[in-house]
Amino acid sequence: MITLYRLRFLLTSDGFKHANKFISNGQLLNLVLFPCFASGRAVSSYRKVNNGVSHCNTVKGHLTLKTFSTATVNKLCWKCGSSAELFFCSSCNVIQPPEDKTSYFDIMNCEQKFSLDTQKLQKRFLELQRALHPDNFCQKSSKEQEYSEEQSALVNKAYRTLQKPLSRAVYMLELQGVLLEEGTDASADPAFLLEVMEINESLAETRSQDEVSAIGRAVRGKLKDLTEQMNSSLNKGDLLTAKELLAQMKYFTNIEEKVKDRITEGY
Ligand SMILES: [Zn+2]
Repeated sequence: MITLYRLRFLLTSDGFKHANKFISNGQLLNLVLFPCFASGRAVSSYRKVNNGVSHCNTVKGHLTLKTFSTATVNKLCWKCGSSAELFFCSSCNVIQPPEDKTSYFDIMNCEQKFSLDTQKLQKRFLELQRALHPDNFCQKSSKEQEYSEEQSALVNKAYRTLQKPLSRAVYMLELQGVLLEEGTDASADPAFLLEVMEINESLAETRSQDEVSAIGRAVRGKLKDLTEQMNSSLNKGDLLTAKELLAQMKYFTNIEEKVKDRITEGY
């Protein structure tokens, strides 16, 4: 249970602003728990791909990866000047530099949907990683080596961002121009903040491994519900609700991390 002092503090407007600090039991919660996954550049340059198709084939024993998407229409190969795909030239097959205007969804060749197929995402990631790996380019020109490093790093970043629901939601909102400013939780529902505070207190106080696991299960259930709600809000284009849900997902993800730490530490 929370103490009266904490409750009073939480409900005063000044205390409310700092409620997030209490929620983590004195440990200052980093409000920007997750780094900005999308740069402003990526946000402003987001373009929708209507029919992205990718396939992987083997030519003379070498893996080549071709990506056909409308996002690459205007791109010309730096070496031969022919039209190039996202990663390789369709004529000379030389690696291309990263394209600033490409969204992570285009890179990973998936529909811009919150409920994306993570198995497909992983498959695409492994294909790209194999095709772009700098080891494949050690006999090539320094320019090609540089591009392979840049492309590999970009693919890693795109994959990491889209793989997890929380970072995917942050990125999708950023693409829509919705940025999560610091202190977002100041406008959060008081009942929600109290709930989070109580869970955090229970977690901090208990010494029972079973109880820690039970909290973990409850929090994962909450995150699953929030993920479903997020999906429906983003599908409806209800960005305001999506933003609120995202703030809640951050809190529960933070608790989930603490639960994992406690289980690793074994108490
Ligand atoms: Zn070329």
